[in-house]
Amino acid sequence: MENIDLHNHSRVSDGLLSPTELVRLAAANGVTTLALTDHDDIEGLEEAKAAANEAGVDFINGVEVSVTWGNHTIHVVGLNINPKQSELVEGLRQIREGRLARAKIIGDELAKVGIHGAFEGALRFAENPNIIARPHFARFIVEQGYAKNVSQVFKRYLIKGKPGFVKHRWADLADALSWIRAADGIPVLAHPGRYEMGKAQMDLLIDEFVGHGGLALEVVTSNHTKDQVEIFANHVRKRNLMASRGSDFHGPGESFCEPGKLPELPYGCKPVWQTWSSQSTH
Ligand code: AMP
Ligand code: MN
Ligand code: MN
Ligand code: MN
Repeated sequence: MENIDLHNHSRVSDGLLSPTELVRLAAANGVTTLALTDHDDIEGLEEAKAAANEAGVDFINGVEVSVTWGNHTIHVVGLNINPKQSELVEGLRQIREGRLARAKIIGDELAKVGIHGAFEGALRFAENPNIIARPHFARFIVEQGYAKNVSQVFKRYLIKGKPGFVKHRWADLADALSWIRAADGIPVLAHPGRYEMGKAQMDLLIDEFVGHGGLALEVVTSNHTKDQVEIFANHVRKRNLMASRGSDFHGPGESFCEPGKLPELPYGCKPVWQTWSSQSTH
């Protein structure tokens, strides 16, 4: 039976497993098609693809691009991208530069509330120094004993309104979508249920996403409630978009669900994977 999971992280960004370990876990869970979608970096794709070949898993090149839309941070997953496409490569490089600058400021802000050495500490947890993300800070803060787990660190220190939250400007939505499209990828609006916005604003976001070439919504993802799955299934049915399914797995013990352990797409949703099962993959 097919089991398709198109949203997963490795240590190349803020996941806990190497690309190879991730692929092996997914294979053991019965995943038949896997996408690696690290934040703003594509360094893990080659290793993951080789591991997937060995494990008999179909592999899809992916990336999760950080975007600023108004006051919101939005994530756009690009699926079946050509990882060598120069505009995409350059766009992601710019985002990574911004991440490094932000991480230094996060370190300074945390020092003001008595947590010292957080930038260096987070760097120690980031296997790829080009991607320092909030989970790396969270893991350092847990290690230092200021909180009992990563989730508690986010609530106390890293979400909007807390001392270690630093407002940051990521890529523009139009740019992110144009890079993904230039790389022959399929832009998917990641975990739409996670954005804190009302219905009217969500409609506007989806309008703009589609206007810039967006093609699919991540209808099934680990932290969507049944109601949210239905809401976004209705969006794709109504607008004739495609639907994706992805766990957003980061690592054992830190994620809501493991690779492949997700509900099926609801009735009447056109699966995003049909686009490449008839074409070639990168
Ligand atoms: P960043 O891109 O550096 O802002 O980090 C975002 C990442 O932090 C997300 O991709 C998640 O992996 C993680 N994250 C965001 N919010 C939370 C939360 N409330 N609890 C745990 N992890 C979170
Ligand atoms: Mn993440
Ligand atoms: Mn995300
Ligand atoms: Mn993700």
